[in-house]
Amino acid sequence: MKRKTKLIHGGISSDPHTGAVSVPIYQVSTYKQEGVGGHKGFEYSRTGNPTRQALEELIKDIEGGTAGFAFGSGMAAITAVMMLFNKGDHVIMTDDVYGGTFRVMSKVLNRFGIESTFVDTSNPKNIHSEIRENTKALYLETPTNPLLKITDIEAASSLAKENGLLTIVDNTFSTPYWQNPIELGADIVLHSATKYIGGHSDVVAGLVVVNTEKLAQDLHFVQNSTGGVLGPQDSWLLMRGIKTLGIRMEETEENTAAIVNFLNQHPSVKKVFYPGLENHPNHEIAKKQARGFGGMVSFDVGSGEKADHLLSKIHYFTLAESLGAVESLISVPARMTHASIPAERRAELGITEGLVRISVGLEDVEDLIEDLRKALE
Ligand SMILES: *Cc1c(COP(=O)(O)O)cnc(C)c1O
Repeated sequence: MKRKTKLIHGGISSDPHTGAVSVPIYQVSTYKQEGVGGHKGFEYSRTGNPTRQALEELIKDIEGGTAGFAFGSGMAAITAVMMLFNKGDHVIMTDDVYGGTFRVMSKVLNRFGIESTFVDTSNPKNIHSEIRENTKALYLETPTNPLLKITDIEAASSLAKENGLLTIVDNTFSTPYWQNPIELGADIVLHSATKYIGGHSDVVAGLVVVNTEKLAQDLHFVQNSTGGVLGPQDSWLLMRGIKTLGIRMEETEENTAAIVNFLNQHPSVKKVFYPGLENHPNHEIAKKQARGFGGMVSFDVGSGEKADHLLSKIHYFTLAESLGAVESLISVPARMTHASIPAERRAELGITEGLVRISVGLEDVEDLIEDLRKALE
């Protein structure tokens, strides 16, 4: 099955009981048993729900793993994956991970004895030198947020394997349509499905796919024990979103290429960060491991005041956190998505006050470029 077909016919694509071509929303918490233990595969909806199961089967097929899991948010998904580890275990992570990921590792999970070290994983040498006796996993985000740095998933996961570490990849920015980390050697891939997978700014959700039976059993145990599951209504919304993921990503790619080309030539723009640019330091790796470069672009206008001026003039780009929806969004990472990262750490990472991040949506690209042109004047 080719990729666009799989988005529509993968998983359980219709209701086995009625033939309905969209899996129904099973808005139910418990299931009648014919005798004690005599159930039809479902006992209680935290453990399993048919709508959520259809979504979990679908994301498993799309990412090419053994089992899929749906959670109430991307952070719930990340936290559940981290609960596969024990007190005293150590995880090496990409330094400019999503702000919430940095926060949960450094302010919550550290209290339970899970240690983490943040390094620039775009250079594999940095990973190697951080491996300790108690290191259990390598956690990558690629491309990163907001500087669009790229880690070579194949090289990093083979280094991890040689050292007995699991490789976990946050694939939110690329989406399973453009990039499949399991095919590149990762053991676990996860998503904030709130972004491109949902795609319409109407649901908060997280998805995980694992590539062994053992990981599937362990993660199901954590999911059922800790209970951060996605509800049936939201599971259905994600399946609806996934059906158009392919065409949304193709169109996003075209719009983004035109906008990047415009920004790159604009005199008020100091620097453009986009993996599709030939001068991006990891352009070749991005081209090798992903089929598209995505719809996230960051650019530096030089100062916080200039960024504010741009925001006050912009029209079609909605000032909001988040990304990956049909409507174009704009944000200033230093004061929004990355505000939970201490100022000095932000400076180290290169997240300047004048850095503006856009998530390119599906409006007419001529309107989007005209909007940026006027706001940059
Ligand atoms: C948004 C996001 C998350 C967190 O997901 P939520 O659904 O907001 O909990 C994690 N990783 C990345 C890359 C994100 O963009």
